[in-house]
Amino acid sequence: MRLGLLIDGRPAADTADGVRDLSGLLPAVPDHPRGALHALIVSGRALAAADVASAPLVAADAALWAPPLPLPGKIVGAPANYREHVAEMNNPTTIVEWGMFLKANTSVIGPGGVVQLPYTDVRTDHEGELAVVVGRTARDVDRRKALDYVFGYTCLLDITTRSSEDRSTRKSFDTFTPLGPWIVTADEVEDPNDLRLRCWVNDDLRQDCSTARFIFDVQRVIEYASAVMTLHPGDVIATGTPAGVGPLAAGDRVAVEIERIGRLTVRVSAERAVPYAQRPGVHPAPAVTL
Ligand code: MN
Repeated sequence: MRLGLLIDGRPAADTADGVRDLSGLLPAVPDHPRGALHALIVSGRALAAADVASAPLVAADAALWAPPLPLPGKIVGAPANYREHVAEMNNPTTIVEWGMFLKANTSVIGPGGVVQLPYTDVRTDHEGELAVVVGRTARDVDRRKALDYVFGYTCLLDITTRSSEDRSTRKSFDTFTPLGPWIVTADEVEDPNDLRLRCWVNDDLRQDCSTARFIFDVQRVIEYASAVMTLHPGDVIATGTPAGVGPLAAGDRVAVEIERIGRLTVRVSAERAVPYAQRPGVHPAPAVTL
């Protein structure tokens, strides 16, 4: 199933016949910032295919997707996790040395959203990634059982500013985690380590790789992350980006497409960008004496 949220908050499924409204199948979660899909994942309930197939169709002009998880519990990221990307950076360091990082859960936007560049004079890059949505509480999970903890998969852009701040700051600006358009449930993805992933900026194909080129495959990423921190249902893991990372500019259209999952497109704006010399924390600069 392809399960998501519409921009009016209704849970919905993308099906062969069109988008279907799942409001009647899920308990209402009015105005809850995590959304109806998060509640479904936490409940551990599986939707019956027959119920989804008979749910009412949504009018085509109302079938606009929001992020499937507007406020994930947490977003855990894998750095340096594709062989060609590590080669391109000329640095053999991987998760073994870097560990994993956290992105703010408030950085999520959905399909058709706008990435706001923070700086006029510092590069901000796209990183197209496969996202894993955790389905069950996971702690110290063995890689051989790791896929049992996956609810599904979606597309993610790990937008990153290349400045000197800590990684969690550079990746956590509001709008820096486009997610969607929906979550494909794990039963429909036989092998998450064998999916073609492509990322375009406008019509320029910047990234084109298979998840077969992971250094830590999905199972090992879950094993690693769950050895450090408990993963909860609705948490998101960004599995790393392949070679071809590049800068974004105002007016760009960025798309990431993953085989069997879908295609997520967002736009880029610099309307809130400031020179790096005027970044947060600079004015007035706190005095530091040694
Ligand atoms: Mn990344």
